[in-house]
Amino acid sequence: MGSTGSIGTQTLQIAEEFPSQFKVVAMTAGRNLPLLAEQIKKHQPEIVAISEEDLIPKLKDLLKTTSNKGNSFKCPQIIGGKDGLNTVASWNSADIVVTGIVGCAGLLPTLSAIKAGKDIALANKETLIAAGPVVLPELKISGSQLLPADSEHSAIFQCLQGTPWEENARLSTGIPTPGLQGIQLTASGGAFRDWSIEELQKATIKDATSHPNWSMGKKITVDSATLMNKGLEVIEAHYLFGLDYKQIGIVIHPQSIIHSMIELSDSSVLAQLGWPDMKLPILYCLSWPKRLKTPWKSLNLSEVGELTFREPNTKKYPCMELAYSAGKEGGSMPAVLNAANEEAVALFLDEKIHFLDIPKLIEFTCEKHKKDFKEFPSLDDVLNVDQWARKIIRQEADRKKINFSQE
Ligand code: NAD
Ligand code: MG
Repeated sequence: MGSTGSIGTQTLQIAEEFPSQFKVVAMTAGRNLPLLAEQIKKHQPEIVAISEEDLIPKLKDLLKTTSNKGNSFKCPQIIGGKDGLNTVASWNSADIVVTGIVGCAGLLPTLSAIKAGKDIALANKETLIAAGPVVLPELKISGSQLLPADSEHSAIFQCLQGTPWEENARLSTGIPTPGLQGIQLTASGGAFRDWSIEELQKATIKDATSHPNWSMGKKITVDSATLMNKGLEVIEAHYLFGLDYKQIGIVIHPQSIIHSMIELSDSSVLAQLGWPDMKLPILYCLSWPKRLKTPWKSLNLSEVGELTFREPNTKKYPCMELAYSAGKEGGSMPAVLNAANEEAVALFLDEKIHFLDIPKLIEFTCEKHKKDFKEFPSLDDVLNVDQWARKIIRQEADRKKINFSQE
């Protein structure tokens, strides 16, 4: 799902590299029709869904006009809209669904896939953050596996394999793992890791969307610059591994070679290392519990030179603290945090607010939600607070007439 995005295209590269292991049977995408048409011709899935139904004729035209590159080509079934996404997510011949849609838009399709008993390679972290209390019980009912594709959570998941409590560790469905003392999530520090708080006043969209180590979609790149991405990953880890928030730490590691660490009850620390390349965690989801042989470049620590670490600066990165406190609050609060963040980042990318307004608007919205807080939210509650938070952020941005000024 989200085949034309950063996670989607890397997933398709894996399918191309391992044709005897993986076959793409279904795909979904948003608006990038030329790339989607190319992907359809190459992978020949059984079914394709695009998020906007009225784009279907355009896609069909493109499929007629683009070259088949010498291959025989049978046009797949093409459907659209929210129902289309849900149909693809639960498509009969699929064993595993890679969720590479960005944002809370991935929630309903992911739930459809889980209800249909599919295993999930979870890249779309917003789904679990907004709706952990709804998603986890569904996993128990269907028996689906939630395999983390996020590099930090994959690192933790990999470190947990092969431990004496293997059976528990394998299931990342919120069950606490005996003997696991805590985890450290590593953070590159994002685009502004070497900027002072004063310099951040001048941050532009171009600055915020240039990641030093990873090539990712725009939204997550801005989340990395605010460190909200790491905050969201703390909540993701809480739900995936059944950890209390005081067991989850964050350390800035600018080289992005250690992807995260676990600490065991005897104080031993295990880490997973590799080049910063999302193909590895995606592949692990697809091959788990096996490992496949890849021709990918081996990690050479002499080439890396040094691995350094420092504590994150909470003054510079207020989003991180906002995420911890929404996570600790639990219930419907992470859904509000997530929606407020999505909307604030969209306003920033639209040049409607400044980079430093992002945490202010999120804090305002979370504070306002306290009086309508739901301790045990249903799916409808999650969807309602998501819409409410987006509306509040837009109203507040308008009311304050925050004017974006690019230097
Ligand atoms: P992206 O923006 O590159 O791609 C998003 C994909 O989702 C595109 O195919 C787009 O067409 C589709 N899409 C967007 N809005 C949609 C909607 N409303 N309905 C249906 N489809 C829609 O994003 P990305 O960087 O690939 O990130 C995808 C997800 O994976 C995010 O949740 C992100 O947090 C997570 N993730 C990404 C990376 C990475 O390296 N890119 C790493 C870890 C986690
Ligand atoms: Mg990550």
